[in-house]
Amino acid sequence: MTTLPYGRQSIDEDDIEAVVSCLRDDFLTQGPRVVELEAALCATTGSAYAAVVSNGTAALHLASLALDVGPGDFGLTSPITFVASANAIRYTGATVGFVDVDPESGQITPETLDAALSQLQAGGRVPRVVVPVDLGGQPVALPEISARCRSQGTRVLHDAAHSLGASWGADPAHRVGDGRFADATILSFHPVKHITTGEGGAVLTPDPEIHSRVADLRSHGIHKRADEWQRHPDDPFVGGWYYEQSALGYNYRLPDINCALGISQLRKLTVFIELRRKWAQRYDDAFANSRFSSWMRPLQQRPGSHSSYHLYVIRVLPQPHESLHDVAARRKRLYEHLRAHQILSQVHYIPVHWQPDFHERGWLPAGGLPGAEQYYAGCLSLPLFPQMTDDDIERVIHAMTEFAPHA
Ligand SMILES: *Cc1c(COP(=O)(O)O)cnc(C)c1O
Repeated sequence: MTTLPYGRQSIDEDDIEAVVSCLRDDFLTQGPRVVELEAALCATTGSAYAAVVSNGTAALHLASLALDVGPGDFGLTSPITFVASANAIRYTGATVGFVDVDPESGQITPETLDAALSQLQAGGRVPRVVVPVDLGGQPVALPEISARCRSQGTRVLHDAAHSLGASWGADPAHRVGDGRFADATILSFHPVKHITTGEGGAVLTPDPEIHSRVADLRSHGIHKRADEWQRHPDDPFVGGWYYEQSALGYNYRLPDINCALGISQLRKLTVFIELRRKWAQRYDDAFANSRFSSWMRPLQQRPGSHSSYHLYVIRVLPQPHESLHDVAARRKRLYEHLRAHQILSQVHYIPVHWQPDFHERGWLPAGGLPGAEQYYAGCLSLPLFPQMTDDDIERVIHAMTEFAPHA
């Protein structure tokens, strides 16, 4: 029996051929495939601009800088996310704070955001940026979240590392990354995400100013175009070799080799998402049975949202009179039980404010983050990736069935 991971990339011969043909071409980096991938991302998401970068964390970092987040500022994010969402705020010298989540969805909501904002306001603080996260691939309530932010001058940096290809509403649907309700949106192309470039990420934005700052900062803050220089092109000290650094940037570029893979992967995004949704539906159907529903429940989906299912998350439910400690103990037994069947589930995520490096650093609302702690105690991500088979799904459902009586 093979080991079943919780997530896995799908690479086919077209992908391999795309990378090989790049290796035979002139540009391994800073070439035409960068531009081509960016255009394809705009076409897919409806974004006006896209800048690809070396990974999703770099995308968060550069987007934060481009949104003028810096020392003395304050940025809010979810505690139920990968540490990168919070670290990006810290990289800029700003202080990070956490907004509680709804334990049913693991996401921040307009209500939890309101609670955090009014507490901050009472202390005279207005966050520079809010970073909402589409946990598992389900879009957060972005229109409401962004309305609250915009009414007080707070920028919205949407962490869509899980939700490429997701949408909400209809006629027409709002696509994640279309830029209507966020100043910038970031994507990740890590192998477990919807499409991969090995490592990679992107910043999408509707704003040409933000785009050009991100594009500059990903390559040392260097300008190669004469109209952006302080010195005049006729100056004898200036010539074909000339460039100017006008801001402290980084080398966060994404090579053409990786872009070649990304272009080829993006062509298959619709198929990948259809498969993810199909497997998710299979789990949903099985778990709707009362044999399961007494002790576990899939992550709640908001009406009208169309998740692209980066993850399939279930929540182990507390039984009457049970503490969070009891729930966590049962979730751990379930994890071990699945592992004994060579099924590798995963926990997304350990609350970021529990990380030792965030102690005494992250701002928490008065009363703490009970929603996040409740969510964390019971959450578990079951295997979900496009190239799963019927047998794989049956294997997981069977192992879950076996566990149920001991729950
Ligand atoms: C994967 C991920 C990131 C960071 O992406 P990398 O490409 O691994 O740097 C950021 N936020 C979330 C929610 C993620 O899942």
